[in-house]
Amino acid sequence: MTRAKWVAAIVGVVALVGAPTAVSASPDAPRAAVRTIYYESGRAAELAPLVDQAAQIWNSGVSSVKLAKGAGGITVSTAQNGAAPGTASCVGCTRGAITFYRNQIKSSGAGPLRVVVHEFGHVLGLNHPQDIGNCDKVMAGGRCDNAQPNAQELAAVQRFWARARIAGSGHQPDDSTIFDAPASAGV
Ligand SMILES: [Zn+2]
Repeated sequence: MTRAKWVAAIVGVVALVGAPTAVSASPDAPRAAVRTIYYESGRAAELAPLVDQAAQIWNSGVSSVKLAKGAGGITVSTAQNGAAPGTASCVGCTRGAITFYRNQIKSSGAGPLRVVVHEFGHVLGLNHPQDIGNCDKVMAGGRCDNAQPNAQELAAVQRFWARARIAGSGHQPDDSTIFDAPASAGV
């Protein structure tokens, strides 16, 4: 990334943080409560701007849950080598960790922003679909660039948090093979 782009990215983040926050829902409307999942990207290194972008993508598509910068939630970090382009420590959770691995993102053929959006998708409650490699779905992995969740994925996240139900399993998704799967035609 060029110096100018870095500066632009930083300015973008500052603008986001400085934006006025929405007034919280009135106390007599508990069913409309929005769950907030905090994330810290201080250790995400060069992927930090993509983390903010991914949060914005999910936030613009759902209203029952919100990803916000802050402590005590999901810790995001970037390392050199791992078993997959990215890992999430849990599915449907407000506390946990996401780690990205530079070399595996490069070799997977998947767009970096797609990988970031995908790992947040796990935190937001999504598992992998059957049609791995379908570029239309951010949860399908594949050698794809698309970083925009499809309507089905957004609806599933919306439902999950509207019910305010946390998946009890806490299982960790296995992303070790899905991102380098050949991209399939949309199903
Ligand atoms: Zn995954």
